[in-house]
Amino acid sequence: MVGTATKQAVRDARYSLQNLNFKTFNFDVHKLHAHVDAASLLISSNGETRSEDDLVTALLNAYKQAPNQEFCQLILSIENDAERDDKDIKAEELMHRAEVRYDNLVKRKKWTKSDPRDQQIIALQASIDKLTAAANKSDKKTSDNNASGKTKGGEKDGEKKSKGKDKNKGRDGKTRSYPDWMIKAPTNGQTTQTRNVKGKQVKYHWCPPHREGQGLWVQHTKEECSLLKKQQEEKAPKLQANLSTIDSDDESDGY
Ligand SMILES: [Zn+2]
Repeated sequence: MVGTATKQAVRDARYSLQNLNFKTFNFDVHKLHAHVDAASLLISSNGETRSEDDLVTALLNAYKQAPNQEFCQLILSIENDAERDDKDIKAEELMHRAEVRYDNLVKRKKWTKSDPRDQQIIALQASIDKLTAAANKSDKKTSDNNASGKTKGGEKDGEKKSKGKDKNKGRDGKTRSYPDWMIKAPTNGQTTQTRNVKGKQVKYHWCPPHREGQGLWVQHTKEECSLLKKQQEEKAPKLQANLSTIDSDDESDGY
């Protein structure tokens, strides 16, 4: 009566019960248990018995992957109690207690569905990105504004700068793209303009040294331009040779 296909299915069911992975069930206790029930039923309806010990061990291992400390602690305490009393853990009772606690945690919105280790990695990556961006900003700022006398590459420095000031935005990459208006040279000799930036009126000045001499609308005046200052300083001793080394990094100045 029991065909080979069914025998294979029973073997699969048995194997799956011994290798429960909580993550596969999206950390949903009910989904995990539905699978356990279905697999158990398949095994028993074919006249075979599943191993209670194996199932309990697999369940305990699966539960311990839970993205929730409180839940994991419950599982550990169930294990400890059984060990202390030298009693076997019953799969049914274990599953019941797990379900009750799970439902309770979900109700209290204390249950997240993602793997805590994944979350840690995401958080870590985010802070690395932040530090990298801050370091880049800090490097640039110190290179185009030596007057501030700040330490080169200081993270704190960079972070401080990244906060609040609109003019520091969009300067974390080497390649920069400007809005059309920002690179459009004044045609009417008008080298200042006022623009609406997030509801604030901001005055812009046309500053010729930027973009390798092609000019850029910036928020500083030519007199305040550290790039121009730098070019003039460097032009004096070495003349042409240095002009080509002033690269586009300095365009971020005061923008
Ligand atoms: Zn300038």
